[in-house]
Amino acid sequence: MKVAIIGAGITGVTTAYFLSEKKVDVTLIEGRRYPAMATSYANGGQLSASNSEAWNSWHNVKTGLKSMINREHSSLIINPFPTITKLSWLCKFIYNIKNNEKITHEICRMAIKSISLYEHIAKKEALEFDKLDKGIIHLYANKKHTQNAEYVNNIYRKAGLNRFRITHEELYKIEPSLKNKKLDSIFYTPSDKTGDIHKFCIGLTNKLIKNKKIKILSCNVDDIKEYTDNFDFVIVCAGVYSPYLAKSIGEKLPIYPVKGYSITINNPGRNAPTVSLLDDFNKIVTSRLGRNRLRVAGFAEFNGYNLDIIQNRVRPLIKWCMDMFPEINTKDIKPWAGLRPMTPNMLPIVRQSKANAKVWYNTGHGHLGWTLSAYTGKLLAEKILFD
Ligand SMILES: Cc1cc2nc3c(=O)[nH]c(=O)nc-3n(C[C@H](O)[C@H](O)[C@H](O)COP(=O)(O)OP(=O)(O)OC[C@H]3O[C@@H](n4cnc5c(N)ncnc54)[C@H](O)[C@@H]3O)c2cc1C
Repeated sequence: MKVAIIGAGITGVTTAYFLSEKKVDVTLIEGRRYPAMATSYANGGQLSASNSEAWNSWHNVKTGLKSMINREHSSLIINPFPTITKLSWLCKFIYNIKNNEKITHEICRMAIKSISLYEHIAKKEALEFDKLDKGIIHLYANKKHTQNAEYVNNIYRKAGLNRFRITHEELYKIEPSLKNKKLDSIFYTPSDKTGDIHKFCIGLTNKLIKNKKIKILSCNVDDIKEYTDNFDFVIVCAGVYSPYLAKSIGEKLPIYPVKGYSITINNPGRNAPTVSLLDDFNKIVTSRLGRNRLRVAGFAEFNGYNLDIIQNRVRPLIKWCMDMFPEINTKDIKPWAGLRPMTPNMLPIVRQSKANAKVWYNTGHGHLGWTLSAYTGKLLAEKILFD
């Protein structure tokens, strides 16, 4: 069987891995010069079942609406300029608020399985990607957020995730850099991990090419139909660009590009955290990537396919670090912006095309593409081979 995969981000690379395991002849097609140069370049680094909570909530709708008037202090920002794509996406997002619990449960279930698949791949292929097995700490600033955390924890428990509340003393032991920080509540998920998505993608792709398990083709695809004659199947893993490819075969995919920012602090010093954090109030995540890098990521901006790095978004991330860790060294900082391929129901699209039976999709992984891709890559490989 000959399969072409369009896109060498995390979804394309993991799909290529699982198909090549089954001796499928895989060609990975990437429009950029190297793999993982788009959204899978410098994300938050978290492999986090504990961040499975669906964004579909009235609280987020209100925050988004407020940001249209005052965007200064908002982690969620909607550009008020109306476009049909954005409005239609937002309507579907609101429609899915009623499914919040079901979606959260489903994402959490997939994430748990995915994280154990990463363990398997990392071990089997001896991949080095600054993986850290120290868990993730969630910080909640006020009573309202704590109440929501307890509600979400019940869903996580049903999905099989062990996330539990810890005391301040326990927090200071797990992450001493947070000593003296006072919060309303703290939750800890020991089974969650972190790692460098870019290193993982590059490492795995190089290994697959070296072992002659896949071929890579450097080419920007405009029309999927150009490939359906020469391959048995074409799989679209093109992140936020997937809707353009789907359009070439007359299909609509409800994926909106939701922009986020990260900063990578080089040599942050001894007073920076090593355990991964998620500050629920500010919606900021951190990951320690090796000894010398701290990744800090945040913001969700609905502003189309815009990748400008705006200082007004970078500065709050730096300020957050200085407030949380006053002794941190912030002399060397690399800012980055990326577009999350978000579906309005937060669930990735892993299915055969309705317009062309030779085309499949593994895309739309939103804010959790690093976490979920091992699972959906394996799922898609099994669907193609056994359905
Ligand atoms: C700020 C930020 C923080 C995040 N933090 C986390 C986190 O902590 N944990 C987590 O799980 N997820 C996180 N995410 C989400 C995660 O990074 C994404 O979901 C994931 O990287 C998407 O991977 P992808 O393979 O779908 O897309 P991409 O990585 O964008 O890959 C798509 C590839 O397809 C190629 N392509 C597109 N169109 C074509 C074409 N026509 N022809 C050929 N090639 C094409 C592109 O060049 C690209 O290489 C974060 C995202 C952002 C923006």
